[in-house]
Amino acid sequence: MRHKVAPILGEIDKSIHKQCNICGEWKPKTTFHNCGKCNNCRARIYRQNHPLQVRAGWNRWSGLHPVERAENRRSADRLYRINNREKVNASAREYRKTIRPYTNLRKRLKGGAHIAELRNLIDSYLGRCVYCFEPLNPVTIDHIVPLIKGGTNDIENLVPACGRCNSSKNRNNLVVWLAKRAAYG
Ligand SMILES: [Zn+2]
Ligand SMILES: [Zn+2]
Repeated sequence: MRHKVAPILGEIDKSIHKQCNICGEWKPKTTFHNCGKCNNCRARIYRQNHPLQVRAGWNRWSGLHPVERAENRRSADRLYRINNREKVNASAREYRKTIRPYTNLRKRLKGGAHIAELRNLIDSYLGRCVYCFEPLNPVTIDHIVPLIKGGTNDIENLVPACGRCNSSKNRNNLVVWLAKRAAYG
């Protein structure tokens, strides 16, 4: 806020200080506006009663001060992280668990399947390898038709596979690999 009032240090002097009838704090008379409310309380009550005006003013200010806006944003984020450490950590854990494997996959699939498609794909196989049905750890994606044989990164050409099956299948065509695996175990 622009009208930060310095806390009163030392004695309260009733000739220059006044008690706010909202927050009960003693503040310099200069921070009152001919009413019983201090400027902080007056501003707070105004903000509560005029959310649209406050938002419009904030948007106007942000447009005029992009640098300060970004800085305010950063310090607000920092403060939020400090005050909500548990929440932030939990959501980071959740992110690592659920989204990051997919963003990494998506990066490797350069412009092919989308994250939502990958999640659906993996969910539809219950998070297991399509070949051996072991849990995917880590999650890897296999191309039914290998890229080198003209396969694409589109979702239709992808199946979830465990690292072992994926590296064993390597660049083999699926049918060839399945036949080899059936023959040699
Ligand atoms: Zn007050
Ligand atoms: Zn497998």
